[in-house]
Amino acid sequence: MEAKENGSLHASVDEKNTNSEVHVKQNGHRAAAEPRFRFTPEPSLEDIRQMQAEFTDQRDWNQFHQPRNLLLALVGEVGEVSELFQWRGEVAEGLPGWSEAEREHLAQELSDVLIYLVELAEKCRVDLPQAVLRKMALNRLKYPASKVHGSAKKYTEYQD
Ligand SMILES: [Mg+2]
Repeated sequence: MEAKENGSLHASVDEKNTNSEVHVKQNGHRAAAEPRFRFTPEPSLEDIRQMQAEFTDQRDWNQFHQPRNLLLALVGEVGEVSELFQWRGEVAEGLPGWSEAEREHLAQELSDVLIYLVELAEKCRVDLPQAVLRKMALNRLKYPASKVHGSAKKYTEYQD
């Protein structure tokens, strides 16, 4: 990983090493490397779909959980996540200074977002894990690392 003189080291990570076990804090200078945060592998998106389907079936809520309603519920939950960040100013990676209760609240609201997203995908017959693979492939084509390295421009602003 190469250090940039003025900016974040995180932005210098290229596609070859995005899976690296170590990344460097974005604090403007080279910081001690720390292990990259990782998820546990389970539950999978299919596991989450099944758990939510069971939850919904047991309550006879499928009559309400149609695509439009799920979309609105999803947007509402995104709003609940936003409330947790509202009026705080910029929040650094890792949420320094957040209490355990605040972190747990965030974990719950992000889970609500994911659960509704997965159920919306199910009800729209979108196989979300496979769709993500296709979309990531498109994103790599749209934003070649060699062209966009360290830049936040939109793809329409790049010249060949
Ligand atoms: Mg919620």
